[in-house]
Amino acid sequence: MPSSAAPLRIGFVMLHTSPLDVPGTKDAGGMNVVVRAQADALARAGHEVTIFTRRSDPAPPARTVLESGLAVVQIDAGPPRLLAKGEHEGVMGEFGALLDAELQRAPVDLLHAEHWFSGIAALPVARRAGVPLVQSYHSIAAPPESPLTDGERPESPGRLAGERRLAHEVDLVIAVSEAERRTVLERLDGDEDRVRVVPLGVDTELFHPCATRDCEEDRDWFGSGGRPEAIVVGRLHPLKGFDLVIEAVAVLPPDQRPMLRIVGAPPPDGDDYVRALHEAVARHGMLCTTAFDGALRRGELADRIRRAAVMLVPSHSETFGLVALEAAASGIPVIARDAGGLREAVIDGETGVLVAGDDPRVWADALSALLADPDRLAALGRGARAHALTRNWGASADRLLEVYRELLAGARGGAQRETSVVSKE
Ligand code: UDP
Repeated sequence: MPSSAAPLRIGFVMLHTSPLDVPGTKDAGGMNVVVRAQADALARAGHEVTIFTRRSDPAPPARTVLESGLAVVQIDAGPPRLLAKGEHEGVMGEFGALLDAELQRAPVDLLHAEHWFSGIAALPVARRAGVPLVQSYHSIAAPPESPLTDGERPESPGRLAGERRLAHEVDLVIAVSEAERRTVLERLDGDEDRVRVVPLGVDTELFHPCATRDCEEDRDWFGSGGRPEAIVVGRLHPLKGFDLVIEAVAVLPPDQRPMLRIVGAPPPDGDDYVRALHEAVARHGMLCTTAFDGALRRGELADRIRRAAVMLVPSHSETFGLVALEAAASGIPVIARDAGGLREAVIDGETGVLVAGDDPRVWADALSALLADPDRLAALGRGARAHALTRNWGASADRLLEVYRELLAGARGGAQRETSVVSKE
């Protein structure tokens, strides 16, 4: 067992999405950003970090070194193409066996599984290797009785059961917010003693307020008489609720509508939702004032966000909602749904506004009130930036490391692992 200050060999397991993918495309989103930022910070602190992912593309080499101390290893489980979410369950066993073989060649001190597919695949591997397993869910299945949003596919039957099993069998669960911690306890019947909150960070150098004249000019709608811009960012999935934003903008009289910028690409099974968004824009006569940008790389995305007047985050469910913190770092107020982790990402009245429910008129009121009040926009923008400056990835990775060390010191992990192994027999 490594001493309390020794560098660790940490294995992140990311079965269904690769850290090499651009966030906002395929299945890559907040989880990819979080894992990459925490892995970067841990590698910079001298730890040896390997991210194990399923090969979904024939191109990358078996091992890609991203920086000193940080590598991505492709596990050849299943076909080398993107899988729709429901298909991953069929490759979890093969992925686990191949991961095990990798770890026999190059052991790690600890495994950290991201999303439930990875946790189920890694559980027997961690047991065999005798190392602790930490689980991050990123999102947790809605209870079976909850209604589906239009176009949303039902959860696979195995998901909630798999997530529950992990809550009981892994050594520690990491939640990204108090809201997610409560969901683990309530929905998965998790053990309060084995859940830790590790707050997310934001890159405040990449996401910063306007610092150039042309950017300032873009934001000078009141001076120029142009339209302010409202931006939404994320994978184009029904859970994100971007359709509600289109409906809300449509409620406003045409001359008072902001430009609407929609950034992100659909997940592998998301074409129907994208079609529905385009149709709604056309139906409301908003083609000339709406832009579909597709997925943007981080630098371009940051530039887009800082030029907007306001970001909307109407997601039906969000364990945290990283985009809200990225907007805050850019000095942009956020109008977000009053639910889940968004209540922690946005401080109502200080960094943005929280809105309850699905009535487009209520969202339209919040939007038009804010856009009509430049002083309030500016004050919320300053509050947002100040809030974001209190969050950074270094601190997030330090907290994660504390949790790892706690486990490795045997304060929790050893005993829990023994119980798990015994209860399996
Ligand atoms: N993102 C991006 N480019 C895009 C769309 C999204 O880099 O075109 C990033 C976004 O900045 C954020 C992440 O993808 O960091 C999405 O995270 P969030 O927590 O908002 O949603 P999730 O994908 O986890 O549901």
